[in-house]
Amino acid sequence: MYTHLATAQVLDGHNGNAAAIYTRDNLLNHVLSAMPRGLSRNEWLHALPRALVSGFVKTDKEFQTKGQTSGTTATFVIIDGWTITVASVGDSRCILDAQGGSVSLLTVDHRLEENVEERERVTASGGEVGRLSVVGGAEIGPLRCWPGGLCLSRSIGDIDVGEFIVPVPYVKQVKLSNAGGRLIIASDGIWDSLSSEVAAKCCRGLPAELAAKQIVKEALRTRGLKDDTTCVVVDIIPPDQTMRLPSPPKKMNKIKSLIFRKKGKVMSNKLTKQLSSVGMVEEIFEEGSAMLSERLGNHSSGRRTSSLFTCAICQVDLDPSEGISVHAGSKFSSSSKPWQSPFLCSDCRDKKDAMEGKRPSGVKVL
Ligand SMILES: [Zn+2]
Repeated sequence: MYTHLATAQVLDGHNGNAAAIYTRDNLLNHVLSAMPRGLSRNEWLHALPRALVSGFVKTDKEFQTKGQTSGTTATFVIIDGWTITVASVGDSRCILDAQGGSVSLLTVDHRLEENVEERERVTASGGEVGRLSVVGGAEIGPLRCWPGGLCLSRSIGDIDVGEFIVPVPYVKQVKLSNAGGRLIIASDGIWDSLSSEVAAKCCRGLPAELAAKQIVKEALRTRGLKDDTTCVVVDIIPPDQTMRLPSPPKKMNKIKSLIFRKKGKVMSNKLTKQLSSVGMVEEIFEEGSAMLSERLGNHSSGRRTSSLFTCAICQVDLDPSEGISVHAGSKFSSSSKPWQSPFLCSDCRDKKDAMEGKRPSGVKVL
């Protein structure tokens, strides 16, 4: 059933490349191993956002046991037919240039400087957020989290920062019309120079490989690139097309903010007609919470999920007496929830508590 599946990822490492390499080699497997067996294609896509959370956290937890001081952003894209699922930690971005000219962002930036919500979460979990101070007391550079001094609020690895710098990804799932579209995934260097619109427009009409080069060239021309930069372009095109169609008339841009619609939102017939003529993008799923109880919990469709006695993160078998509900002790729990699936092993439960600032980081740098 994986024959329709394609994946793409951008991993932007810092403090060495060990975390990026480890993530490249393990993340996909960890996501797939968190998927329940025997699902239909639709059920599989429905289960994917939760498996992505498990896979990211497992990859981070495993890498941290290696005791290496290295971290990475991870923007991981899974394409199944017209459905695109993006999971991301850090500040690499994925944008979608849907056929018809609407450009939209499929990720959020986990940067302390720009993300107030994340700053509040980190502070509430016991981290300190501030700038580097130089001799004389002047503060320089972007907001960082202490201990560690990382500018990101989420990443994989980074054993030397507080565990409230979490690997829980923002996940977004959208469905393209059968007119297709183009994904541009790139590390922060590109987005410091180019807006989503400029990046999308500067390469329209070019085949994917040349498009990626063009975007890097455009970023260099605009502001220059300070660090290593990765840019991946993926075209999702109807089977009968080998090349992307030329860009649409400029008029279409007027309604670009309406192209994304929340599932279930009712629209007038007139508007629906307009949208279908340019290729509508349907938003299926979006969730960015850092809380595992919100990301792994509450199976609304309880059937055919992973086994009850398996850890929802690392997938080890649990003795019926040792599993701890992901809801236990959380502020979202009601009295009945401590016995409700999914369950975590005690190791992953420790990890969860550390991520929420409920215990100090227990892992020491070697
Ligand atoms: Zn576990």
